[in-house]
Amino acid sequence: MIYSFLQLHSTFNRLLGPYWSYAMYRFGAIIGMVLASIAYSGACAFGEVIGTSFVFVQDSKPTATLVIGSKTDLQDDVHFADIIAKTVASISAVEVPVADSKDKVHSSRQVLIGTPEGIPLVKKLLAEDAAYQDEVGNAQSNALLPAELGEQGFIIHRTQQGDRQYLILTGHTPLGVLYAVNTLQDRLHLEAGEVIVDGFGTRLMPIVNTPAFTNRSLQTAVGGPDFLGSGQYMREFGYDYQGFVDWLASHKINNILLHDTGFTWGICYDSKRFPELVNRDHPNVEKDYLGGIIKYGRKRGLTVFFAHNMPDRCDFIVKARPELAGINKDGSPKPGTFCLNKPEVLELWKAYWDETLTHYPDVEAIGCQFGEHLNARCQCDVCGCDKYFERQLAFFDAMVDVAQSKNPPVKYWIWRVPGAKQIIENKRDYPDLVDIDWRLKFRPFMLGHETEGDWYLYHHHGNNPEFGIKQVSMALQKQHLKGMQIRAVQFKEKDRMYQCYEEFTWNPKLSIEDYAHLYTIKTLRRKNKNVTKAYVHYMRARGYYEIFRADNRRRRQQDWDLTYDKKFKEELVALKETLKRISIENDFVDWLRSQAEIPAIAHEMRTHLVNIVNSDGSCTQIEVIRPEGGGCIGPMGENYGGLASSEQLREVYGY
Ligand SMILES: [Zn+2]
Repeated sequence: MIYSFLQLHSTFNRLLGPYWSYAMYRFGAIIGMVLASIAYSGACAFGEVIGTSFVFVQDSKPTATLVIGSKTDLQDDVHFADIIAKTVASISAVEVPVADSKDKVHSSRQVLIGTPEGIPLVKKLLAEDAAYQDEVGNAQSNALLPAELGEQGFIIHRTQQGDRQYLILTGHTPLGVLYAVNTLQDRLHLEAGEVIVDGFGTRLMPIVNTPAFTNRSLQTAVGGPDFLGSGQYMREFGYDYQGFVDWLASHKINNILLHDTGFTWGICYDSKRFPELVNRDHPNVEKDYLGGIIKYGRKRGLTVFFAHNMPDRCDFIVKARPELAGINKDGSPKPGTFCLNKPEVLELWKAYWDETLTHYPDVEAIGCQFGEHLNARCQCDVCGCDKYFERQLAFFDAMVDVAQSKNPPVKYWIWRVPGAKQIIENKRDYPDLVDIDWRLKFRPFMLGHETEGDWYLYHHHGNNPEFGIKQVSMALQKQHLKGMQIRAVQFKEKDRMYQCYEEFTWNPKLSIEDYAHLYTIKTLRRKNKNVTKAYVHYMRARGYYEIFRADNRRRRQQDWDLTYDKKFKEELVALKETLKRISIENDFVDWLRSQAEIPAIAHEMRTHLVNIVNSDGSCTQIEVIRPEGGGCIGPMGENYGGLASSEQLREVYGY
């Protein structure tokens, strides 16, 4: 059989859409693999090759063997096989056997889990399947894995030899293999009593997979208290930091930026140099697991960034060292805020980082939010004028100096905030700096907004993140951003959000329908067209809702553009109709039912933003709702009767 590159390319294009066209273009080797499968199966039609499922369990018996490498890190390979075996067992209560590749494996269905170096059979099968022709028709008989796979990319390839079926989960590195395993794990499901995976070679599970963003980050906290939640990490993981890291890896998250490492609540480890500045409520002080997260994280491709604030949001430390506090315009002390002009503040800053890097030498990067609100700064002769930006640059330089003298591989990062103005202007002097932009929701990105940072922290809206994550990941991919970040302190409880983050940060071109299909499989462990459809209607409804709010927020009610209000209502009706056709009972379905009851946007649009001023002078905006029938409802559902005052809201949401 002879296919030219272009013939095959156009066949793919027609059958699988533009995503494939792009993938084909980048990864010529795959053409070879698929071509070989076609050649092998003789006259079999194209669709049968890509549509075939791989069966793990049939008639309550295992039909496949998980084969692991014996030459690479066996401990990892056992762990990887275990992930699949446990998932299959959770779906069917059947145990799939695991074998070592150096033993003779007789099973007619084998899942090969490892790098080509670890499992010679992977090398052999790939070499045979990759006997492809390049664009000018030369046979390439020895192409194995495309170099573009890099450290994180992976291949999921189903192939056959005689009556033996093979499912290859491989990559250049153990991390690539792990990501292949975690992808397959999400797609295991029941069909006609069998545990299967299907969709091989389609956009739902391409043969070749590389991330759209090299860094997929989560801004979070691993103790408490913190800005967003209290003690959530301990409730979900306790001291099981390996469980936490493995859970992050299961969503292919490869960076965490920790906001409980700053001065707001005190030092989060048992500092010997500053015992009086330690936050004794942080569980890491009692038993240091942060070091474990960093170390074990390295094994699972996870890097850890520490976060800080300067000069505000340093409440705990300023309280303990009142002589370092900034001042208000009238000369009174400004709680929670340092004066950047006091040499002792700079000394404390340097000594703190010096000790922290001694304590955690393996941390990937240290960084800071150098002034989120200009009105929160000290109002002395230096901090109160433009010299403030020079002082922030000096504090940044001091942090970089400590990192470089202490441990040169340690990098540094900043958030793009007003106080960091001069640092950003001098950005080219710091080649290792990761500049993380943030602030905007998804609507500006749909309208073509471009970010200037290296990464983007996307603040999704409350419990309805999917539509926005899809929009922002699509936009950021076009801008070739190196990293995307989201912020949350709930973990397994918000699995839906992490699944969507995982799928779209690898493949932003997946449609909302594709993602809903994949999530239905993961959460129900079976396909269900109506659940998928209901989820799509929910995501669209929430997306249109957000757009309507974003587009009309600043207009008078009589000027509202009602286009998205109309679309939102249509989706809500469709959601309710679809839910009537679903008979299964399940947590996810229950949750969808609860979402069908969200009120019309125009109702919720009667919201107000109330500014509250915190004790340190910083400002927080709280959104309250003024329902038609009167009253005023706060973010947690509490009713204030009349419009809530700044003081009332500060008691609940400020400090
Ligand atoms: Zn000052």
